[in-house]
Amino acid sequence: MVMPTPAKILWPALRRKLAAWYAGAKRDLPWRRTTDPYAIALSEIMLQQTQVVTVIPYYERWLKLFPTWSSLAEAKEHDVIKAWEGLGYYRRARNLHALAKAVMGRSGEMPRTELELLALPGIGPYTAAAIGSIAFGLPLAVLDGNVMRVLTRLLALPDDIARPQTRAKLQRIANEFLETRDPSTHNQAIMELGATVCLPRKPMCLICPLSDACRGHDRAEEFPVKSRVAAVKREEVVAIIAHGPSYYGEQVPEGKLWQGLWRFPDFDPSRMVTLEPLAVIRYGITKYAVTMQAVRARWKGRPPVSGRYLTLEQMQALAFAAPHRKLALLLLRRERG
Ligand code: SF4
Repeated sequence: MVMPTPAKILWPALRRKLAAWYAGAKRDLPWRRTTDPYAIALSEIMLQQTQVVTVIPYYERWLKLFPTWSSLAEAKEHDVIKAWEGLGYYRRARNLHALAKAVMGRSGEMPRTELELLALPGIGPYTAAAIGSIAFGLPLAVLDGNVMRVLTRLLALPDDIARPQTRAKLQRIANEFLETRDPSTHNQAIMELGATVCLPRKPMCLICPLSDACRGHDRAEEFPVKSRVAAVKREEVVAIIAHGPSYYGEQVPEGKLWQGLWRFPDFDPSRMVTLEPLAVIRYGITKYAVTMQAVRARWKGRPPVSGRYLTLEQMQALAFAAPHRKLALLLLRRERG
């Protein structure tokens, strides 16, 4: 296959078309009505790995709970995690909390250079480019899944986007495409195009502002090319141990997956006796496809002091890891008939 060269693309014309399209087609999203770097950083961190429709109510509630960097920096970790509950990837909540403390360590001001942004906790190249361009007008091109899809289709790029070399190449192309006079609008426009027109399946090429120049539009779904790694299957058994109206739960210690969140304990035959199977829940996490079996059990001796018995109402007030929260809801439904 002959590789298309980005140099043959007329970037200035495409920039103008993209900007004109965005002016008329952009969605009215709450973070587009603000220039507050805190709110912009919050939205960008929430939007990593999470859909816009899911993020909107969390974003609005969060700003009521923690309206400023200082209110977030002063919040207890438990309250921060609880406010994030349900969004998944809790590391983002901890990073945001650490970011608020770091910003308060700079008198509440975010830095305005790419290097300094990258030095802050939880800020990677994408987030630095998004915050830098949208909040401060820095000429930094964003490269997320939406942008990669648009660019690989536009250029019919056959390179595997799972490879770091391809990411670097796409970053160079995104930099070349960037409208440096208004990087905020340009970045938001290309992400919007990927999110609403250049969809993973059935892209709407007929209404796309870039269709005249697009080299991949007749086989758009072939792009981006990404080598797949099969999910590793994993099985786990968790124990539901009741004591009157309460259930034994434990908080995950630091350094482990779901640290700080609550969960039901793993079934341990040396310390527990199984009574009956209860439910099977399947979920995916990173590269794992997990089948979680819940069994009703009891302790052989005294329960360990690392956890405690919680009523279902108390559980609702705590931040539970998503699959365990599903189990708690299941118990609640059964209890209430
Ligand atoms: Fe995507 Fe189609 Fe637009 Fe090309 S023409 S960028 S494939 S929506």
